[in-house]
Amino acid sequence: MKREFSINTIIQTLQEVLPKDREFIALHEPLFKGNEWTYVKDCLDTGWVSSIGQYVDRFEQQLADYTGAKYAVAVVNGTAALHICLQMAGVAAGDEVIMPALTFVATANAVCYCGAIPHFVDSEARSLGLDPYKLADYLDDISELRLKGCFNKKTGRRIKAVVPMHTFGHPVDMEPLVEVCRKFRLELIEDAAESLGSYYKGIHTGNWGRLSVLSFNGNKIVTTGGGGAILTNYESLARLVKHLCTQAKLLHPWSLNHDMVGYNYRMPNINAALGCAQLAQLPEFIEKKRALAKRYQEAFSEVEGVEIFHEDDYAYSNYWLNALLLDEKYCAERDKLLEITNGHAIMTRPAWTLMHRLPMYVNCPRMDLSGAESLERRIINLPSSVFL
Ligand SMILES: *Cc1c(COP(=O)(O)O)cnc(C)c1O
Repeated sequence: MKREFSINTIIQTLQEVLPKDREFIALHEPLFKGNEWTYVKDCLDTGWVSSIGQYVDRFEQQLADYTGAKYAVAVVNGTAALHICLQMAGVAAGDEVIMPALTFVATANAVCYCGAIPHFVDSEARSLGLDPYKLADYLDDISELRLKGCFNKKTGRRIKAVVPMHTFGHPVDMEPLVEVCRKFRLELIEDAAESLGSYYKGIHTGNWGRLSVLSFNGNKIVTTGGGGAILTNYESLARLVKHLCTQAKLLHPWSLNHDMVGYNYRMPNINAALGCAQLAQLPEFIEKKRALAKRYQEAFSEVEGVEIFHEDDYAYSNYWLNALLLDEKYCAERDKLLEITNGHAIMTRPAWTLMHRLPMYVNCPRMDLSGAESLERRIINLPSSVFL
């Protein structure tokens, strides 16, 4: 017999899983117990703190090795990485870019930096990410292929790219999505900001399109303070990305020349130093996160009306952020639960407000979003720090 659903039962179950000796339990705190101090001190001692230095090169190499991507370019943050990838993919003013409505606002903002328009699509409960089958049917309906690519028949605008996002570290169902992109001639850019260490069918997320994005913000599984990276398996793209992120400065012993409008997006050495130390601990972080997810799953399997999201058979997830899912019949209790847990010094959060509800994006094109809207009503993110 399961325990009956009640707010008290949920709080009790949470307290059973979480440590008892902490006054406050944050949603996600970083952990620095490797070589962070040594490497950062080395930057200060040698004066190499800025955008050139051995730690940047080392961090990029370690990222490539870890993810299996041929090249990684470290940048100032994940949002900048998205901006560059979209531009590299040829996203131009007036284009539309498909993305889930259930994502962090950075995904949509980066599209706007290019003068393009986000086009919101639905998510599926199985992955918490973009639903490739629903997208295929939708594109069949609203788009047509012309000489210059895929066009939205309703708006007349070109649809240039798709940006799936691996929600809370859980991989999107990539194989059918790759097929949709091929069929409709859409560039695929994975927002893998949350999924470092997550695999789809044995291949690391971020390797399914030509370009993808990681983030090392303070709340991500590995942090550089602020930071991000672009992954690619194409040498020419890697070289151009690096050039664009370095003010498009031409290599020369002394002359200062630039051949494009570039960006100051390169990651400083001092951040990369932190990253090198953090990345060395990633396998251990993932092990601990998967163990915590398992503890949550077991504890809440005894409670009626809720479940802890778990990876699909095709996935190996980093479980960056755990998600409690309320049954639809209990979703009216969500806000009460958020209020009481946060009142008990257990930090919890709802899912992001769906993009099409934000004032700057209300008028963007979108499909039926019933899947994402259901998830929005039902998701509560639980404390997920590595040391819990
Ligand atoms: C964190 C994050 C980003 C980028 O974040 P930065 O803070 O700019 O590094 C982008 N998309 C998603 C889904 C994220 O979670």
